Amino acid sequence: IKKVGVLTSGGDSPGMNAAIRAVVRTCAYHNIECIGIYRGYQGMIEGDFKEMGPRSVNNIVNKGGTILKSARSVEFRTPEGRKKAHENLLKAGIDALVVIGGDGSFTGGLIFNSEYGFPVMGIPGTIDNDIYGTSFTLGYDTALNTVVDCIDKIRDTASSHNRLFFVEVMGRDAGHIALNAGIGAGAEEILIPEEDLGLDRLLDSLQKSKASGKSSSIVVIAEGDKIGKNVFELKDYVEANLPEYDVRVSVLGHMQRGGSPSCFDRVLASRLGMKAVESLLEGKSNYMVGLKEDKVVLTPLEQAIKGKSEIDRELLRVSDIMST
Ligand code: ATP
Repeated sequence: IKKVGVLTSGGDSPGMNAAIRAVVRTCAYHNIECIGIYRGYQGMIEGDFKEMGPRSVNNIVNKGGTILKSARSVEFRTPEGRKKAHENLLKAGIDALVVIGGDGSFTGGLIFNSEYGFPVMGIPGTIDNDIYGTSFTLGYDTALNTVVDCIDKIRDTASSHNRLFFVEVMGRDAGHIALNAGIGAGAEEILIPEEDLGLDRLLDSLQKSKASGKSSSIVVIAEGDKIGKNVFELKDYVEANLPEYDVRVSVLGHMQRGGSPSCFDRVLASRLGMKAVESLLEGKSNYMVGLKEDKVVLTPLEQAIKGKSEIDRELLRVSDIMST
């Protein structure tokens, strides 16, 4: 391996810049060249490349988003698109790829590898923490802290007005953010995609909470919760059934994806970026680097894509008992 290409793809997440920096500097350390590829696979197809040296990643370890930009490329899903991308890589002398993204990005990388035998290494970058083979994805810890921060602020107003707040957080298929931020912020109930709490139990729990002397409550709801109603329908339902409650809704939205990465995410990005490059130099390909039991480990990309990252069910019990 003489020249590594690095790209960010799919949804951005805090820590992607720190990972780019780690890849670039590890390449420099080992005296190999590094090329930044802009806008994910779309930039690969368009030849949107830039040489990167250790000084081109100064002052980005603390920045959210991605300096390489991200994109969702429809063209890369076609054999013609991937052919163009391959030609551009060859022209630029790039002989290995580090893909920072989610499982869609890894799928693209794997297909590209199967067609052209191009070495690919994945770094999991998504706030959802929904990738198999790592206990933490880049940006997840930062997103948790952002959500907890927001809920703390919402709690101030909730308790001043004796209100019930429904806070919707990201997580279409995974409840990691809702569950952990919910516990961290002291939520009354947490609704996640993995478990159907049921409307009756929600009403029951809110009633009990009122009876026990709580004057305000926060319910954290993942976008993809299983209860079968969106957050506004749920507000109407609860108000219709428990008229004593005055419900407000807060949808946190994209702010959860932004912001300066936490120290944890910066360290994680540095460790994963270093391991990705050094694994390529050892001749490895088609793996994702991840963190398990505080060790950096490799998981075959195929497993990372197919496997499911489960929630820790013990946390459901923790949440239950904490809301007593
Ligand atoms: P996020 O978790 O934020 O959604 P992701 O990496 O899963 O991130 P996707 O939009 O699913 O995001 O995938 C990113 C890009 O990877 C796509 O825009 C496409 O270019 C490429 N890709 C995804 N699936 C495939 C596929 N089956 N074949 C070829 N390329 C793919």
